[in-house]
Amino acid sequence: MIGTKDMKFRFPIVVIDEDFRAENISGSSIRDLAEAIGNEGMEVVGFTSYVDLTSFAQQASRASCFIVSIDDDEFGSGSPEEVAVPIEALRSFILAVRKRNTDIPIFLYGETRTAQHIPNDVLRELHGFIHMFEDTPEFVARHIIREAKKYLSSLAPPFFNALMEYASDSSYSWHCPGHSGGVAFLKSPIGQMFHQFFGENMLRADVCNSVDELGQLLDHTGPVAASEQNAARIFNSDHLFFVTNGTSTSNKIVWHSTVAPGDIVVVDRNCHKSILHSIIMTGAIPVFLMPTRNHYGIIGPIPKSEFTMESIREKIEANPFARKAKNKKPRILTITQSTYDGILYNVEQIKEILGSNIDTLHFDEAWLPHATFHDFYKNMHAIGTDRPRSDDTLVFATQSTHKLLAGLSQASQILVQNGNNRKLDTHRFNESYLMHSSTSPQYSIIASCDVAAAMMEAPGGTALVEESLLEALDFRRAMRKVDAEFGDDDWWFQVWGPKDIAEEGIGEREDWVIREDDDWHDFGNIESGFNMLDPIKATIITPGLNLKGDFDEFGIPAAIVSKYLAEHGIIIEKTGLYSFFIMFTIGITKGRWNSMVTELQQFKDDYDQNLPLWRVLPEFVSKHKQYERIGLRDLCTQIHDMYKKYDVAKITTDMYLSKIEPAMTPADAWAKMAHREIERVSIDEIEGRITAMLVTPYPPGIPLMVPGERFNSTIISYLKFARDFNSALPGFETDVHGLVKDTVNGVEGYYIDVVKE
Ligand SMILES: *Cc1c(COP(=O)(O)O)cnc(C)c1O
Repeated sequence: MIGTKDMKFRFPIVVIDEDFRAENISGSSIRDLAEAIGNEGMEVVGFTSYVDLTSFAQQASRASCFIVSIDDDEFGSGSPEEVAVPIEALRSFILAVRKRNTDIPIFLYGETRTAQHIPNDVLRELHGFIHMFEDTPEFVARHIIREAKKYLSSLAPPFFNALMEYASDSSYSWHCPGHSGGVAFLKSPIGQMFHQFFGENMLRADVCNSVDELGQLLDHTGPVAASEQNAARIFNSDHLFFVTNGTSTSNKIVWHSTVAPGDIVVVDRNCHKSILHSIIMTGAIPVFLMPTRNHYGIIGPIPKSEFTMESIREKIEANPFARKAKNKKPRILTITQSTYDGILYNVEQIKEILGSNIDTLHFDEAWLPHATFHDFYKNMHAIGTDRPRSDDTLVFATQSTHKLLAGLSQASQILVQNGNNRKLDTHRFNESYLMHSSTSPQYSIIASCDVAAAMMEAPGGTALVEESLLEALDFRRAMRKVDAEFGDDDWWFQVWGPKDIAEEGIGEREDWVIREDDDWHDFGNIESGFNMLDPIKATIITPGLNLKGDFDEFGIPAAIVSKYLAEHGIIIEKTGLYSFFIMFTIGITKGRWNSMVTELQQFKDDYDQNLPLWRVLPEFVSKHKQYERIGLRDLCTQIHDMYKKYDVAKITTDMYLSKIEPAMTPADAWAKMAHREIERVSIDEIEGRITAMLVTPYPPGIPLMVPGERFNSTIISYLKFARDFNSALPGFETDVHGLVKDTVNGVEGYYIDVVKE
């Protein structure tokens, strides 16, 4: 065991030797070495198979050192023919380790006779050649352990390192939090349970910001600052700030640092609600860029033509509030850089068009922290190596470390690229940071920001992203293979995306660039090369609806598939009408997506047999008895017919694209809400009224209306559909945030809070 003070970690020394268990001289000599290492307190794990050496490369994240044997058993007589195979195995093993880890020590172990066969490109990657019989096992063991420990002690990035030191140093503290390193929990049975569940370290590391040696998140000092600088280097940005309250907060920090009441802001209509909250909080006047949509409900790119200053000026003049603004230069542009479905923008093209016309460019990269680590995404993310600067415009990216990298929930970061003539004024910026941050940040989240960044250090980051891409492509290929096996006369799920993908490997970035004449997206007139689809987001299309929004004879609403998968232990990130999506984060494994493919096959089987719901969805049926005896296929048909009757695919597309009139600024409408100058009005009487609430249908969870906007007939027909659907099919409710089922003056119905007239 190895430790920072008394902290214990398991990082064994891995020995790979055909003779590890053999009753011969070389077997006994390697076992002597293993024993000597063990006697020094380090664990040794031995493997005997030399055949598939590269498979051991995966151990590199758990090991502290490799010792690979090359002696008679591997090299035979030493003739060129006999050594060719093991040398090649050795070389690919070393390359595989070095692809993600440049530092872990690797020693070769053998007779001096065999050393001369090792080619230079292999030797270069080694920490040494251990000559059998030349030194005592004890001497060799100490040398190896020294290298292993040196390696391990270099692993922890600054803040995590300091936090471990602090937590392992058992000094008594008098500061908050009140549980005093977990001790308070031990005073009651349920507290004991909590303590045992989370473990002592998590509680000891839960410290407050009066601990000087850990530095201050809020002032960016000490080890926290060192970690932020480390992460800035790894992510190739000029500044990087950790945020422990999610990208929801990062977005508000960026906005409040630069936007004031009455400012014009240019915002992706398909933005996260935290951006709409930012508009409300800052008192800004929004003009919106409209993304395209297809009838699967997938949100496409904002066409490039929307980004021109002419188009933006037209929107400003058409907006009753923006038109009257004192300063017509927009303060900020916010784009969702990677939509839920994985659409990305070419940032350099946006910078070129708008770079000098908008004060600040902000890319909401909640789903894109991985992009900077792989050329696959070149120019399709905000900030990276060798990316040109704008002259006077700052570029911000806000990223949810926890969504795609290894961060704890709420781990987020703000990245900044300075302009040529304009640098971020960090001192003033931090005032906004303070406005939105808790004065008691969670230190485990800071540590996870620190570790998530360190994990992406070259070359590991590139290897991890490449692996996600590869898994994502393998998944798509596996789905196509199943499809081919079922043939044209049978149905299967489709994965949405380009038709031509690489037959093996990850292929080319160009395969994923979106073009005007592609027939798979139906986003209309979009400019080729302005966008790409991120392969790691896989939207799975269920049968029943085509790209034009026409319903087929039969259909399988995605809501049922995702309920089915949930009962089989697979939780889906987002479910649409006839689509749902899964992500290939750096945590995904072959086993995971393979079981997805298997479960989908199982679903198909159960569907084709029309098995009753009590068998296939027992948990759901226990809450909704009325479905007990209905067949899976019959239920799908029932819901499908309901969607068809209301032409839901077209309504949901149309309502997002419909003309929505702003009657008040969002902040003024919010003021009405705060003062309760609002009333609950039935959706039957709501046309022309002004919403005081964000109205957000799930799916897709993208806000449809912002406070201050008027209800139009398209939106109302959707709300009526939601009402009818919910009463017809309980258990499959369409959830619309802002829409409430209530009884007002004795009348039960569906209501929305609108501004009083
Ligand atoms: C999830 C998300 C956010 C908010 O991130 P949190 O870390 O959950 O607060 C912001 N923007 C977009 C586009 C998101 O998807």
